[in-house]
Amino acid sequence: AARNGVQWNKAPCRFCGTGCHVQVGVQNGKVVAIAGDQKAPVNKGLLCVKGYHVGLALYGSDRLTTPLLRKGDKQVPISWDEALDIIARRVLKDPKGFGLYGSGQWTIPEGYTASKFVKGGLGTHQLDANARLCMASAVTGFLATYGVDEPAGCYDDLDACDVLIMWGNNPAEMHPVLFSRVIDRRSRGEKVTLIDIGTRKTRTSGFCDYSLRFKPNSDLAIACGIAHLLVENGTYDKAFVEANCAFRAPSSPPTLEGKAITFEEYRELLKPYTPEKVEELSGVSAKDLRMLAGLFGRRDVRITSLWCMGMNQHTRGTAINNLVHGLHLLSGHFGKPGDAPTSLTGQPSACGTVREVGTLAHALPGGRVVAKAEHRAQMEEIWNLPKGRVSDKIGYHTLEMWKRFSTPTEQGGDIHTIWVQVTNPAQTLPNTHKLVDPSRKLADKFLIVSDVYPSATTRIADLVLPSAMWVEKNGMVGNSERRTQQWFKMVNPPGQARDDAWQLIAVAHRLFALGFEGMKDKDGRFLFEVKGKDGKPVPLWDFAHYYDVNVDEHLFEEYRKTTRIKHKDLAPYQEYVKARGLRWPVVEQPDGSWRETRFRFAGFDDPYVKKGRDIQFYHSTTHDDRAQIWFSPYEPPPESPDTEFPFWLCTGRVIEHWHSGTMTSRIPQLHRAMPQAYVEMNSADARRLGVSNGDWVTVETRRGKLDLPVWIGGRGEPVEGSLFVPFFDERLLINGLTLDEHDPFSKQPDYKKCAARVRRR
Ligand code: SF4
Repeated sequence: AARNGVQWNKAPCRFCGTGCHVQVGVQNGKVVAIAGDQKAPVNKGLLCVKGYHVGLALYGSDRLTTPLLRKGDKQVPISWDEALDIIARRVLKDPKGFGLYGSGQWTIPEGYTASKFVKGGLGTHQLDANARLCMASAVTGFLATYGVDEPAGCYDDLDACDVLIMWGNNPAEMHPVLFSRVIDRRSRGEKVTLIDIGTRKTRTSGFCDYSLRFKPNSDLAIACGIAHLLVENGTYDKAFVEANCAFRAPSSPPTLEGKAITFEEYRELLKPYTPEKVEELSGVSAKDLRMLAGLFGRRDVRITSLWCMGMNQHTRGTAINNLVHGLHLLSGHFGKPGDAPTSLTGQPSACGTVREVGTLAHALPGGRVVAKAEHRAQMEEIWNLPKGRVSDKIGYHTLEMWKRFSTPTEQGGDIHTIWVQVTNPAQTLPNTHKLVDPSRKLADKFLIVSDVYPSATTRIADLVLPSAMWVEKNGMVGNSERRTQQWFKMVNPPGQARDDAWQLIAVAHRLFALGFEGMKDKDGRFLFEVKGKDGKPVPLWDFAHYYDVNVDEHLFEEYRKTTRIKHKDLAPYQEYVKARGLRWPVVEQPDGSWRETRFRFAGFDDPYVKKGRDIQFYHSTTHDDRAQIWFSPYEPPPESPDTEFPFWLCTGRVIEHWHSGTMTSRIPQLHRAMPQAYVEMNSADARRLGVSNGDWVTVETRRGKLDLPVWIGGRGEPVEGSLFVPFFDERLLINGLTLDEHDPFSKQPDYKKCAARVRRR
């Protein structure tokens, strides 16, 4: 719609996984205004401080506008034609050593293009995404419990729950619009009990009825303690469990499937987790533990659990995810509005692109996995590839890919090139300097980075490619509640910046033109061929023709064919043009309309549950419609404070900045509000060290040290003996100090706990 010369159109916000919709106002080819979208069910017109300023993210003064090639110490402009040739030559050097590292900020069509490029074209699986660092343990938790990924519940649970438990989660800052849905209910007089269980007092804690602090890593003991009380007190939901659940414990050697156990064995394994023992392990009092178990044991309240990085960035991430799902299953707090265990994501399309399209080293589109021959064969059929093109060899997960890139070739470093799109690993990888050598001394390695602004990663790149962002291109994303959203290009990107999907398709075509078999289908046609209205192939690799057709629609309709196998059905593209997103599975109705699903596995809402069943876990790992209730023991973390390094160090985010701050630090209002990182300390620790607010200290771990200003009594307060540092600030790069230990199943690293010391400067 046009008002006062301003053209308005809908788009999801560019930043977090909440998936708020904004109205974007465009005038004279420029985004000039942003408003909350009143019609959007997620945010009902509200935005957070990042959302209100999202338009300004396009207009920082140092946008990348031309390809740049490293020559000595300098990066000099080159043409796209030269850039495409350079990338094609790096592929042809050895396709097996060419890695693509992407992001939960890729749109769905971009992620699908990346998957087809690597898995269908290069015939490898050297593709992983930064979502490995933020939600991989949520994925393994869902798979181990339900046999299929992604939350059963949705944001509507926040409108219906009586109790909201936030596990290591700070939605008041990280998912503020979602949190406001609950606060809004309270301000209207509804009673919602808020419980925050974490290692740091946060903005969320201030709203909570109970704010419980635990010792890092001991969340497993707390969950086992609650389960123990439910079983011993007989307050678990016997009928729900007998009808819908089975029990599981870790196997030896450890596998994601674990081993089956009986209810009696489960009960025995929980016995050591008495309230007193859990108090000793976790610091949460026996009384509070009984309070939690008491709530789970009630049938007259509805309980929603929320979590995000606190549970996922954890060397026992899969285990704690399993345990929290298990509490909901054991107590029957599942499958009714307001009764749900729900993981949140940080990035706008960690779910839609990384989890659903499958831009991970072990995955294929639509919930398929490389390990299954029938899944590989299905993708070969959909992509019209010769038999055997989709490799059976799983690629390297993120940490392994970067380790092999930073290792000399003769010492096993078999990744010679990485192409990074839409992410900033030189700032965000844990123990960064080990995984991304800032001196780039290995001459035979080559780093390509597509981005919109200069970053820690573009600065060390051999080739930098300027990307279009957000409403400078068409896009689709999928948020934390299975909601797929769509928008159209509204303004032109600056200079020669180009869509990320175009960059991949253009390289694919260059390879095709050079005779590379991988970019041909089994009939010899180009892998990304799209026909125009006249029936002739559109030369997509020539950007002048890229928008002659809606490439997103073509890619999405092809991708859509892959989504049924795991009941992640999507509607036709045009349905998303009309809607503010739809939650899958989206199923066609007899009248031709398309109906979304709010509550998966619940008979009253999920079209795939057999008629007459209240609950059906139809992707059960045990093929009997049962979900798995896991026992997983508490174990100490890989690194704990000691006399040399007596503090815990935890990293995280702040409301003003998006991830590594490359976009938000260019928005003056956000940069002024939070100009630099800091170290948050407990006031007792600060007194003991003799430091005051604003003093600079040196924070040191076994991996490095960093000077930071101190903030005491500010936005949050870590418990005594622990520190918190946000990671958005490239100049104060905290990931040089973090630990690169990871969960054994999800391969997700732990950014939330390592040992550190602090020295006054
Ligand atoms: Fe954007 Fe997330 Fe803020 Fe919503 S909560 S406006 S999606 S950053």
